[in-house]
Amino acid sequence: MPHNMRGWAEQFKHVHHRIYGTARRIERLFTSITRPPGPIVGLTVTKAVLLPILTYSLPWTRFSEWKLERLESAIAAPMRRCLGLPAKTSTAAVLYEIGIPRLFVLREWLLMKEAGRSAQIREDMEEQEEEGAEYCRTIAQEIREIGRKWGVLPTQDLEQAYRVRASEAWMQCTRGKKLREVKTTMGPAFYILHETKPQVCLRARLRQDVANNAVSLNRRGLLETTQCQRCGHYEDDREHLLLYCPRFADLRETVVRELRALCPPVELTLPLLLADESVYPNVKVTKRRAMALCHSLDITGRFLLNIHRRNPI
Ligand SMILES: [Zn+2]
Repeated sequence: MPHNMRGWAEQFKHVHHRIYGTARRIERLFTSITRPPGPIVGLTVTKAVLLPILTYSLPWTRFSEWKLERLESAIAAPMRRCLGLPAKTSTAAVLYEIGIPRLFVLREWLLMKEAGRSAQIREDMEEQEEEGAEYCRTIAQEIREIGRKWGVLPTQDLEQAYRVRASEAWMQCTRGKKLREVKTTMGPAFYILHETKPQVCLRARLRQDVANNAVSLNRRGLLETTQCQRCGHYEDDREHLLLYCPRFADLRETVVRELRALCPPVELTLPLLLADESVYPNVKVTKRRAMALCHSLDITGRFLLNIHRRNPI
């Protein structure tokens, strides 16, 4: 049960302790087995085990922004490991990649959903509301404020409004800029659900621009120069690494040929390699279209693996 009678600080300690402890146990489990599980397992465990601990009490608690950020950080930890991302990768970006919004948006959505549900029950239960009336009134006030902000009533279909709010909050984040270039809408990214683990990890690093190319290493203070260590080009950014570096010309030739053989033919571009939302939309697609998208994803995934084998990215 949510501990309404305790102070918010104690409530936060309780929730954080449980989430942090469970996340650490999941992380230990992932590292102790011989073959660490793929991102889909991480995604399922995060959503089925970790998130419910929080959503159970989240609507009825008011945590400050930094406390919500600490909770976000604890929830993102196992998934960051599954995606093979560096420890410093933005928490909001890791969560958004798998379709979990900022926690304050999640809380607003849960409150609105709960309000919609109790609005139906309340008609015949109005007389039983004396106890804790003040607490209820405060929450009710908050729900009205959220309703005005979202432009919907709790009894209306909230799904669309929730997606819009989640995307807005994501677009306003100060970190995760690189991922925002390829992902703006809610839901787990297409490539996570359709690729093998090594391919997902490479793609995830490239999408967040934390791969081993010189520009990225230089930005993170790990290399003094931005020059390509393979061919001497002055700027080894993602585009150079994937589309122009002569070291991988033969691999590129093969992938271009395979993509052109698809029906309809596909061009090798940076958005395609980054599994950009404009190419792989973050909505349900028809089975036929999903098959076609999987083909090009598989071709570029093998290309990334081959580059990685020759020169770790
Ligand atoms: Zn080069």
